[in-house]
Amino acid sequence: MPINEQTLESFLSGNLSILDEIIGTDAAELKSILNSATITAMGKSEILNQVSVASSASAQKAIINTRLNTYSRVATNTMMKDAPSDTKYVYVGPIDDRTRDECLDMASSPPITESEIISQFGYAPLVDGGGINCRHKWEIASDEGIKLFEGKKAQQVIKDKTKPKVNALSNAGKFTNTKDATNFMLENGVENAAVSNMNIGVVNEMSGALGKIPSKYRNNIVLGDFANFKKITDRKLAGGSHNYGVSISLPKVDTKLLTFAEKKAIFESPLSGGDFHIIGVNTRKYKTLEKITERKLLIQKQYFEKNGRNYFLNTDGKVTVHHEFGHIVHNQLSSEQRKLWDNIAEKWAEKANADILKVKQGWTEHYAEAFAEAWGAYNAGDRTLLPLEVKEFIKEIKNA
Ligand SMILES: [Zn+2]
Repeated sequence: MPINEQTLESFLSGNLSILDEIIGTDAAELKSILNSATITAMGKSEILNQVSVASSASAQKAIINTRLNTYSRVATNTMMKDAPSDTKYVYVGPIDDRTRDECLDMASSPPITESEIISQFGYAPLVDGGGINCRHKWEIASDEGIKLFEGKKAQQVIKDKTKPKVNALSNAGKFTNTKDATNFMLENGVENAAVSNMNIGVVNEMSGALGKIPSKYRNNIVLGDFANFKKITDRKLAGGSHNYGVSISLPKVDTKLLTFAEKKAIFESPLSGGDFHIIGVNTRKYKTLEKITERKLLIQKQYFEKNGRNYFLNTDGKVTVHHEFGHIVHNQLSSEQRKLWDNIAEKWAEKANADILKVKQGWTEHYAEAFAEAWGAYNAGDRTLLPLEVKEFIKEIKNA
């Protein structure tokens, strides 16, 4: 079947009623565009571009494109039958993030013969491309055909697709640069992160700790160093030995993170606007996880010499980061859950050799430090330090 105006004309007349139905008054316009074009196999993509411009609704375009692409494929396919068997073909058409996987596969193939197309991809793509709405076709790898070929681009799109996304939860705790770790955290419930000056070991562990908290608690989190914490909260930090990290949940309006307009909107709304869960890490004194560990071991030793007992349950810097995230989980527990925890923690603190567990928080008198220590040990430390009841409680919170 030669590719000429007559064959296209007959294709069009056979489908004119359909064209009329789908594009109404544009049918005549479409027909004149097609008739005025130089009808060669290669001219078709240009025709399709014009059709796309001429017809308005995208659904109509899709139907027309599918029909014309099919026609175009049939035409090339007919030429394939007459062409020498060593003629090579390339898969052409737009390559972008909408391009389906089958088409990307074919488009990334180097020029191949008809029999290679059939053995690698089957018969169907010769007529149907990648299926309904497909914008691609096998084209002779002539000088003109190669111009439309975007194999390199297709390979790149495939590469980008298979590359695990930075925000995938499976990446938590596996970052080697602060930028990726920060992007991950901002995509996973962190509202604001001022961590660019911090050690990657600490920042990466923050991403790991974030990944360990259940998704229901993973929102409205703010991370930074001590200076940033002070700036945001206007609060003086607790001194003493518990000075490695600090966590606090504050009504959003009480922080310096909202604009005046945002605060006004909260005041005027019947809803409270909720809390920010803020974690500050003391990078001024302890720049790395190792420095935290070193310091905690020293404090532990001094405390033991003085009191004959341990102060910390966990002395590892890594666990300390999880401890802080444990606080923001604890802050979001229901009052019933906290009561349950306080009963468990009170008994635990009596028996355990770690005085930090006895520290009760402010006027609420909750066993917040015990929870944070248990959370840290469970998620990043030594679980054998935890009695069964404690382990069960933490496990239940994690699975809720
Ligand atoms: Zn704490």
